[in-house]
Amino acid sequence: MQYDVVIIGSGPGGYVSAIRCAQLGLKTAVIEKYKTFGGTCLNVGCIPSKALLDSSEHYHNAAHTFTTHGIDLKDLTVNMPQMIARKDDVVAQNTAGITYLFKKNKIDSFEGLGSFVDKNTIKITKADGTSETITAKNVVIASGSKPTALPFLPIDKKRIITSTEALNIKEVPKTMIVIGGGVIGLELGSVYARLGTKVSVVEYLPAIIATMDAGLGKELQRVLKKSLGMEFFMGHKVTGATAKGEKVTVSALNAKGEEVNLEADYCIVAVGRTAYTEGLGLENIGIKTEERGHKIPVNAHLETAVQGVYAIGDVVTGAMLAHKAEDEGIFVAETIAGQKPHINYNLIPGVVYTWPEVASVGYTEEQLKEKGVKYKAGSFPFKASGRAKASMDTDGFVKVLADEATDEILGVHMIGPRAADMIAEAVVAMEFRASAEDIARICHAHPTYTEAMKEAAMAATANRAIHI
Ligand code: FAD
Repeated sequence: MQYDVVIIGSGPGGYVSAIRCAQLGLKTAVIEKYKTFGGTCLNVGCIPSKALLDSSEHYHNAAHTFTTHGIDLKDLTVNMPQMIARKDDVVAQNTAGITYLFKKNKIDSFEGLGSFVDKNTIKITKADGTSETITAKNVVIASGSKPTALPFLPIDKKRIITSTEALNIKEVPKTMIVIGGGVIGLELGSVYARLGTKVSVVEYLPAIIATMDAGLGKELQRVLKKSLGMEFFMGHKVTGATAKGEKVTVSALNAKGEEVNLEADYCIVAVGRTAYTEGLGLENIGIKTEERGHKIPVNAHLETAVQGVYAIGDVVTGAMLAHKAEDEGIFVAETIAGQKPHINYNLIPGVVYTWPEVASVGYTEEQLKEKGVKYKAGSFPFKASGRAKASMDTDGFVKVLADEATDEILGVHMIGPRAADMIAEAVVAMEFRASAEDIARICHAHPTYTEAMKEAAMAATANRAIHI
């Protein structure tokens, strides 16, 4: 065999796995069908969306809060081509970083579509139609996902678009419809709403970010409405969309079954992502994907039904998140090297990079109720935080859920300034099986947003928060 490990796909699952394999002394190669490494995350996902979220947040602050801070700006305008160019530069820096890391770790890379000839032989078909084959003792499938399409709603990539095209609109649209009130739809909707677009979200369920603790969605919807003027059409079942010239009409049925038609300049379809397995030749090695979602079935070692063939990241079950893919990449590398790694799937944090940010780890109140677990809840609102008052970020709260009998923290749910970073404290605490009392007794620097975590823990233990 030429390689100990060949990895198909260079997203956060694939590239991290490759680096860990190389660190462990395994001869490693990566196959990537696109010209740049980094997969969805670096090219059209986490990184470009956060770049635009940052730029649009600067503009929104300049337009709406600077005057209150005593900073007067004149003639504020959005230079959209420059905003997109900066985003592209951020992406380029990150993807170039992977090229550097591959070189540094002596990882071979092949550009082309990787498909199984047999379980140890992979054919790489290049863009010009030529091909070559390589062999490996182990193969890791890290082929990721693509945006889910609605069968009755064709995406023309011009006016009816996915998240990928939404990262490249070179003007500020007047109006935009976002189908789907999940993480991706709300983040991209926020980008444009901050720049002045009238954004309408159409969601089938009665709540946005419906998989998170119910209190978070409620608060986020309230704040996005208040601060960005976003409109929400909840409980609406989209039935179709048609583009005519520069306008899109989206039709939906409301909760009463009445037809509602909405018109906008653009419509982003953000109804989730589907595992991507096209062209892998899974049929050649007898791997069947799951009927729903097309995920590749794996066992507890992330090994498929075929010995020596592993699968990680968005293409397997679980949260479709970059950090989950990365941890699985390391897990598989260490498993192949004969180690016994572990992932605690209950402690993978979920984050929504709106403003305020939303972040969550562990069980939600709804899950605890369903499991019949007796718990205590303590909340602390940012409006009572000195730090939040200083930065005028007083929306949101931190909620700590702890076992009623043992006080072990079972879940932490927060919406507020820098929640994406603050959730790390909760993850660490829960990994070490801390009690709410532990957090309540730990000294938190003042004034910081993190004091809200301590206060929520104090509220969960004998209702003794100080500042509320
Ligand atoms: P991917 O990143 O999808 O990479 C798979 C790679 O495999 C691709 O490069 C693809 O070209 C390649 N490939 C596929 N088949 C083949 C083949 N046969 N041969 C060769 N190459 C192949 N997650 C977060 O955690 N935080 C965020 O903030 C976040 N923001 C997001 C924003 C957006 C707009 C989107 C769309 C996603 C976001 N995600 C975020 C999700 C995150 O991008 C994915 O969970 C993550 O990229 C999954 O990593 P992966 O390695 O499994 O697959």
